[in-house]
Amino acid sequence: MMNIKKLIKPFLDLVFPATCICCGASTEASGKSICNWCRHDRFEKAELVTKEILPAGVHFQFSLWMFDKGGYLQKLLHDLKYNFMMGVGEELGNLAGIEFLKSAEEEILKNLKVQRVLIVPVPLHRKKERERGYNQARAIAAGFSRSTGWDLLEKGVISRVKRTKTQTGLSLTDRSENLNGAFQINRKAHFHGAYVIIIDDVYTTGATSFELAGALLADGVTGAAIVTVAKA
Ligand SMILES: [Zn+2]
Repeated sequence: MMNIKKLIKPFLDLVFPATCICCGASTEASGKSICNWCRHDRFEKAELVTKEILPAGVHFQFSLWMFDKGGYLQKLLHDLKYNFMMGVGEELGNLAGIEFLKSAEEEILKNLKVQRVLIVPVPLHRKKERERGYNQARAIAAGFSRSTGWDLLEKGVISRVKRTKTQTGLSLTDRSENLNGAFQINRKAHFHGAYVIIIDDVYTTGATSFELAGALLADGVTGAAIVTVAKA
């Protein structure tokens, strides 16, 4: 039988050349949509945070990279949000998982080993998800789940019930007020005794993930953590 993929590959390469989705460099032969330089060296690595700026019950915050305003990463994250790049989101989440396991302190990993860990993507409001076609946080979470082996929360367990205004320009206090009651947990027993790792694309003030963590902690999770691709 003829291999269709092999047959049409030269034509696909003509129309969609194998270039890095982030910087445009050639990714020929790597089979990845992000080039090795972007994957490993282009962006500044972010440090894992376990300190007092996190609310009670939230144990650590990890981001793959520091946000580069006006740069390649900003454009990539924008494209990820609006251009239905499921595969790229998964690739970024997978990379975040690999880096997390490599750089997290022994104590954190030891604690996670004895927990039932659930990977929880920050849900989008139903209308917003319909407009965009998918939730970029879920794509990242799927990749993170693949490289860490922790279970990805199925769809529909949590909903975003409040269509919040844009957070830009609001202080942390105003942001949390804006987000108050934004999430609704539909299947409560699901979380009892679990440890949740909340996944989003960008960590700015943390208001969104803090609100979600608060709702889950009130519902009986043993602890929460936040992982994102970028940190502003
Ligand atoms: Zn690149």
